[in-house]
Amino acid sequence: MSETPIGAEIIAADNPLLSPWTGPFAAPPFDRLRPEHFPPAFEAALAEKRAEIAAIAANPEPASFANTIEALERGGVSLDRVAAVFFNLAGADTNDALQAIERDIAPVLARLSSEIYLDEALFRRVDALNQAGESLGLTAEQARVLKLYHIAFLRNGAGLAPDAKKRLAEIDERLAMLGTEFGQNVLADEKAYLLALETPDDRAGLPDTLLAAAAETAAERGLPGQHGITLARSSIEPFLQFSSRRDLREKAFRAWAARGESGGATDNRAIAAETVRLRSERARLLGFKSYAHFRLDNTMAKTPRAALDLLHSVWGPARAQALREGEALQAIIAEEGGNFPVAPWDWRYYAEKRRKALFDLDEGEIKPYLRLDKMIEAAFYVAQRLFSLSFTERTDIKLYHPDARCWTATDGDGAPIALFIGDYFARPSKRSGAWMSALRDQHKLDGAALPIVVNVMNFAKAGEGEAALLSFDDARTLFHEFGHGLHGMLSDVTYPMISGTSVPRDFVEFPSQLYEHWLEQPEILRRFAVHHRTGEPMPEALLQRLLRARQFNQGFATVEYAASALVDLALHLEATPDNLDVVAFEKSQLDKLDMPSAIQMRHRTPHFQHIFAGSGYSAGYYSYLWSEILDADGFEAFEEIDDIFNPELARRLRDYVYAAGGRREPEAAYAGFRGRAAKPEALLRKRGLGEAKG
Ligand SMILES: [Zn+2]
Repeated sequence: MSETPIGAEIIAADNPLLSPWTGPFAAPPFDRLRPEHFPPAFEAALAEKRAEIAAIAANPEPASFANTIEALERGGVSLDRVAAVFFNLAGADTNDALQAIERDIAPVLARLSSEIYLDEALFRRVDALNQAGESLGLTAEQARVLKLYHIAFLRNGAGLAPDAKKRLAEIDERLAMLGTEFGQNVLADEKAYLLALETPDDRAGLPDTLLAAAAETAAERGLPGQHGITLARSSIEPFLQFSSRRDLREKAFRAWAARGESGGATDNRAIAAETVRLRSERARLLGFKSYAHFRLDNTMAKTPRAALDLLHSVWGPARAQALREGEALQAIIAEEGGNFPVAPWDWRYYAEKRRKALFDLDEGEIKPYLRLDKMIEAAFYVAQRLFSLSFTERTDIKLYHPDARCWTATDGDGAPIALFIGDYFARPSKRSGAWMSALRDQHKLDGAALPIVVNVMNFAKAGEGEAALLSFDDARTLFHEFGHGLHGMLSDVTYPMISGTSVPRDFVEFPSQLYEHWLEQPEILRRFAVHHRTGEPMPEALLQRLLRARQFNQGFATVEYAASALVDLALHLEATPDNLDVVAFEKSQLDKLDMPSAIQMRHRTPHFQHIFAGSGYSAGYYSYLWSEILDADGFEAFEEIDDIFNPELARRLRDYVYAAGGRREPEAAYAGFRGRAAKPEALLRKRGLGEAKG
């Protein structure tokens, strides 16, 4: 047998993407996948889906729920499979070949989506069913799915005049290309950067755990025996926190802040400007005032006004608190004989000193107790106590990278319900940030399809033979993504359309943020925060200091987040954003807000992947705060009865939230769990930004 040259035609039988997946858990055969398998697999899967859609649209029978909606739900199995595997790899472990395919396939997929939504015969069927309404005798879930289909068609241009349809399709195709380029550019800028700490002086102030991670990073980047800092949050944030070299902090911070704004081939400013302009045009074609109005129309917030009101209600108290925090940092600088105003690259460093002074707590002291393996175990344990799930690691499934691991999730009755893949470490082939995705969504359309859920993080890897250690923020991220993961794994619905995390953006952060609360419970920390060498539990006094410091620096955290959310909304509220200079626009918005000069937005526009690398959180970055009303108020339900694992509450949480997917409107889902609507005051209490706090 000769080797298959790249680009040669691969027939279906030889393509592991197109043959049935018969291995354990019917998981994708990652070990046999090569980049060159994807183009022919996409081509075959696209043709299959086109044929299915054409058959549904041309069906001579009158439209019925079964021959139209269920047929649509059943369609595209191959494409869903190929695309899920592909985009997981493109985010978590990409390379030049996958990036080239990604650039090619993004507009092709957009075109197919347009073809479907703009197909008149197909829309007539969906519309007829929608009008027939109650006379169809649908179950509640079916009625919900039908309604969501109808809305999706309208939001994608069904019912528009032919010219407008044509323009909409062009815009969608172009947006898909821009989103892909945006993400690839940020990755390129991150990959290109390494701050080498060559002398002991360059490493001044850095704790052992950070040095070990920096040594591992340098080795991975081809500089064995050296120390390196990258622009991954898990690398640069601790560096900014501990490095006493102000010049190096500034250098690294500036590189971090300038991602996507290099002026070269990876500059994202023009891409962001064109994206904003096209989104606005698209929204106006659909009859909305702005893209933000369009995006929020089918969310909990419903209008930009409601999202803005929430952000502004927090902005004032948060800014005031941040200014007080800044003054305290300035005082430390003065005490040390410094004569400079606190700058963005100083904040984390002096905040760390202040935290030490106020709470006798430093990150270097906490980290040895937050071992990655134990935090994974803690997340599993909480799922066991709340939902009777258990997790068993398995090694019989070959994954896409040696660092990725997987577990079978088993329900209380012993039945497997999901496969969970955890991919925890940063590497140059991985997009920054942390996310959950699914390689297969749960549904019960034709027997049970069990979900395959992935959590991807960017934690710093430890040196050879050492245990990976987390910061408390890292551990929180792990719980957060695991909360999304549970939303996918516990999903118990019939139709793929409403499976798992298929809920409005400003509700989807509720199950994830709620889950973070359990990490902060003394009961959990006492059990799982054990020293990585000695196995001793975290000393009680340290644990109490850690929890007391929970609201420390919340002014800063809220300001850096809310500034990003407000700029996101402002960009997408522009009625006619032609020739926008996105950086000048960002500055003018921050000036209007009177942004504290020592704080930088959490994500500046040229690398704001949440809103530009795809449309995911566009005009939706506010969602975290919106959902936080729900998680703050929701966790209080457990606190009020002084039982963080209360079985009755946990059962309602599972039924109405984690298992329910998009079966109900979010308000109804929340009320089903809580017994009432959420009370917004809980949010300020949680952040410590409430009543008369000094
Ligand atoms: Zn999230």
